[in-house]
Amino acid sequence: MFLDQSTRRNLEISQTIFTNQKKGSLLWVMDKTATSMGKRLLKEWLENPLLNLEKIQERQEAVQDLYEKPLVQNEFKDFLGQIHDLERIVGRIAYGNAGPRDIVALKESIGYLPQFRDLLRRLESSIFHNMVVHFDDLQDLYTSIDEKIADEPPISPKEGGLVKEGFSKEIDELRDISRGGKNSLLAIEAREREATGIKSLKVGYNKVFGYYIEVSNSNKALVPSHYIRKQTLANGERYFTEEIKLHEDKVLGATERLYQKEYEIFCRVRDNIAVNAARIQMMAAYIAVADVLFSFAKTALENRYVCPVLHDGDTLEIAGGRHPMVEQMGEEAFIANDTFLDAENHRIAVITGPNMAGKSTYMRQVALIILMAQIGSFVPAQSAKIGLTDRIFTRIGASDDLVGGNSTFMVEMTETADILRAASAKSFIILDEIGRGTSTFDGLSIAWAVIAHLAAGELGPKTLFATHYHELTCLEEEMEHIRNYAISVREYNGDLIFLRKIAPGKANKSYGIQVAKLAGLPIGIINQARTILKSLEKNQLHLDKNKNKAAEMPALFKEISENQEEILEEIENLNIDELAPIKALSLLAEWQDRIIKENNEH
Ligand code: ATP
Repeated sequence: MFLDQSTRRNLEISQTIFTNQKKGSLLWVMDKTATSMGKRLLKEWLENPLLNLEKIQERQEAVQDLYEKPLVQNEFKDFLGQIHDLERIVGRIAYGNAGPRDIVALKESIGYLPQFRDLLRRLESSIFHNMVVHFDDLQDLYTSIDEKIADEPPISPKEGGLVKEGFSKEIDELRDISRGGKNSLLAIEAREREATGIKSLKVGYNKVFGYYIEVSNSNKALVPSHYIRKQTLANGERYFTEEIKLHEDKVLGATERLYQKEYEIFCRVRDNIAVNAARIQMMAAYIAVADVLFSFAKTALENRYVCPVLHDGDTLEIAGGRHPMVEQMGEEAFIANDTFLDAENHRIAVITGPNMAGKSTYMRQVALIILMAQIGSFVPAQSAKIGLTDRIFTRIGASDDLVGGNSTFMVEMTETADILRAASAKSFIILDEIGRGTSTFDGLSIAWAVIAHLAAGELGPKTLFATHYHELTCLEEEMEHIRNYAISVREYNGDLIFLRKIAPGKANKSYGIQVAKLAGLPIGIINQARTILKSLEKNQLHLDKNKNKAAEMPALFKEISENQEEILEEIENLNIDELAPIKALSLLAEWQDRIIKENNEH
């Protein structure tokens, strides 16, 4: 399923909107993977839900399989904990920049593959069964590394210590000379100290000057004449002797050859692995898939998720649905809610309710449950039956794209236009507050027309539409396919109690001022807002009283009556040039008469 960028952002799939952090995102809730490969794959699955029913059901079966076998789960956790990032290692090997420790990490991980196969054999679902059928234990690679490469090699491949003792006679011999060299160096040092009487005399080595005897300035007078000066230091002098030179040639020659030979063997092992990279990648992919499915099972158990029933039909039925992140992060206990939508009669839910009631949370939770279901995961609900959804669209909140040349309202409208163009009867849409970025009447008109558009036709996308334009609730009676829902609150001593329960019906107040008070707006402003509200409501009442019944709907949306249409037509057809003033006046009087009469009839 293609998820556009704003939907990924709005649903907080891999990071939160406000803080751009993983904590609080869906990935954070679902990530119980034990390997880096699993982590990467989980993110990929979350961003690319499936559209194929069979593939989803295969994953569900596998999750159920693990879910029901606690013993296998425990062993799986131990197994996954031992596995290194094989994908990265193979990548480094392919680019020729893998080090000896990568090769040993690969060997160690391969060593656990037989345990992996045993675990897979204890599972029955088809994904795991297929893995057993095509399983490759990579034993040849294990043996090749194990017999040649030391168990704890150094980081660099060029400084020896890579090849295991006993693998090559030649290497063992060179190593002996190289090591023996160091011992005889200590012997020379002891002898020279004795002979010269210089206790602080040191025999050392550096890459530029080779082997040397170092004597401090205070002992320079004791240096024998056969010492040849090599290097002057700030507080001493370095020398060499014939014996030191001979030693240097022998040891350095052997060490150099040793390092070279070891490096050659290392490269042969590395090249052999590179040739077999595809086999390792296949096993790495199996481990990643198993890790993600394991993570699904663990999340389902820990967070009390259920296996959703996916089907080809159009209905979406969720009992006791919860928001996966809010229920983990929220300060209050999460209140579960039901959902029923289909592509026909219950196609559009117009959701009203006070600020802070939980409208956005509810709508996102439904989208997230669909998304989770279509990646093969269990979902936070008591039960869920979900018709396969081809796209999830979200239009939420205010954001601008100033760099892209789009104002807040322009972004809102562009996103809405994109959704209306691309949505099919199999799509699911969340529209949170359409038309808020412009004047009230413009916004209300746009929101109204968008709902009307979505409600037109026999089939259409399932839509959750949250709004503070309470006028829109009259659409339930005006058009088919629309249902009103409200999230209620209770007022107690002037305070608000959020009940968080959604039910059929409509809200008639937004309690914006109470919520503003909760948010800490200065009390002076709150009081003034209350006064202004009262006066606005009074004016509204006055206007309403003077209106006829049909005017309950905003004038913009009134249908034009036949009588009015006739009058308009008459005006259109008038030949003003030939119209005498007296005739014009009498026509005006007649039209006014007809309009007043019509209004009185209603
Ligand atoms: P507004 O109209 O102001 O945008 P809203 O109705 O969209 O508000 P939300 O943003 O969905 O309200 O919810 C406000 C807060 O209430 C959330 O951040 C969440 O912490 C909490 N909340 C929402 N729904 C629930 C629930 N079902 N159970 C518990 N807490 C909830």
